[in-house]
Amino acid sequence: MKNNRLVIISYRLPFSIKTKNRTTTVTSSSGGLVTAIKSLELGTASQKPLWIGCADFTQRTWDNHKHEVNDDFEYVPVFLDKATNKGFYNGFSNSVLWPLFHYFPSYVDYHDEAFKAYQAANQTVCEKVVELLQPNDMVWVHDYHFLALPQLIREQAPEATIGFFLHIPFPSNELLRLLTRQCRTYLLKGLLGADLIGFHTNDYLVHFLESIQLNLGLSHSLAKIPYQDRFVQGQAFPIGINYDLYHNAFDQPDVATERDELKATYAGKIIFSVDRLDYTKGVMQRLDALEAFLEAHPDWKGNLVFILVVIPSRDEIQTYGERKQMIEQAVGRINGKFATLTWVPIVYRYASLRFSQLLALYTACDVAMITPLRDGMNLVAKEFIASRQDEQGVLLLSELTGAANELGESLLVNPLDEYEVAEQMLVALTMPPDEQQRRMRVMQQRVREYDVKQWANDFFDRLLATRQGKRLGH
Ligand code: UDP
Repeated sequence: MKNNRLVIISYRLPFSIKTKNRTTTVTSSSGGLVTAIKSLELGTASQKPLWIGCADFTQRTWDNHKHEVNDDFEYVPVFLDKATNKGFYNGFSNSVLWPLFHYFPSYVDYHDEAFKAYQAANQTVCEKVVELLQPNDMVWVHDYHFLALPQLIREQAPEATIGFFLHIPFPSNELLRLLTRQCRTYLLKGLLGADLIGFHTNDYLVHFLESIQLNLGLSHSLAKIPYQDRFVQGQAFPIGINYDLYHNAFDQPDVATERDELKATYAGKIIFSVDRLDYTKGVMQRLDALEAFLEAHPDWKGNLVFILVVIPSRDEIQTYGERKQMIEQAVGRINGKFATLTWVPIVYRYASLRFSQLLALYTACDVAMITPLRDGMNLVAKEFIASRQDEQGVLLLSELTGAANELGESLLVNPLDEYEVAEQMLVALTMPPDEQQRRMRVMQQRVREYDVKQWANDFFDRLLATRQGKRLGH
């Protein structure tokens, strides 16, 4: 993959610029995608990758502070007006696509204006991409905010090489068909502007292929779709994590100190969960399962603690604020019901964690309880596995996550069945160390082998192959 400039488009740029008390701070993101892209062998003569995303700061702030941002990439912020961004991001992306694609149709809050804002935002970003596009560029569009973008770019740059990766589930057509015909046609045709469309799992790919068959009458052979005068390839690429980062953190002094503190504080078993505040994460059902467990096994009272960390997220959307209240009421009720004067079952935090705190919790806990009702992949599950240098700890994992496909040695549960989850909690809490080790080793090997670098390299190689195929006329 030599001398091909990469152009990445994602909603967020991989840094933040925040102003508080008249002081502006620029912070680089160390997310998996950044690590992955940096690991691509783009060739020495190639230009720096270009990263285009939506700004949550003003043009003036950018002009004053862009020199403080790292120079790993060339960054291009797109400045959307406030109303467009709100309709695009909070409105259509997070109040229509997010709930629908995660099988929560009753949470869909559709407004025509929001759909129009989504179209306008995709168009604005498209203009920026086309303005900067060079002949050999490889365009890589990310996620549900930009389903329409591949086709919009294709219309203006028919020869462009365009990849798209969806980071959330692609649902069954039964869900997609709840959108108006005009809307779902626009989104599906938008995606088909790409040369390569990546999903986390084969199930999501199959749903997509069914949708284009049922809505657009398009067929395929081995996920290769003849469309207009081109072929579009669909494929599953299950995203991985930066394995070494999580694995090597075990002995980091701050992680070890915080782990020792946790173990000294909690004498019994530790169950841990961490998720963004989101209805897809199944926190309420997880609390129901804990309650069912303590009802069924009163001998565990005083002998375990459930550390529940919820990370603030999307608080401008009403359903998210309501969820916080529901969780906090349930935590209060369960603690009130089971606590003694010297013990509470749930330790609850509503905050982001520092890396060392997160890793201390991953490596101190006996059970990681990760039970979303739907999740495209779930990286927390993979990070927990990678972090356990000691080869101990049990993963209790929802079968409705993408990660469940690769982590079959975890205890897989249906997160809606509180009694099954409660039963598996007992299995997890009493699993002998040698069995924990056996399961952990297999899962670690898998997570290590297909890490985020491998994922990005596979996607990029495949995208390059589709371009070469096109040039050879296949
Ligand atoms: N994470 C974070 N802040 C925290 C705790 C965790 O950013 O305080 C990270 C975590 O390490 C993981 C990501 O958030 O990489 C969550 O990814 P996941 O796929 O599990 O769920 P998502 O939030 O993307 O739906």
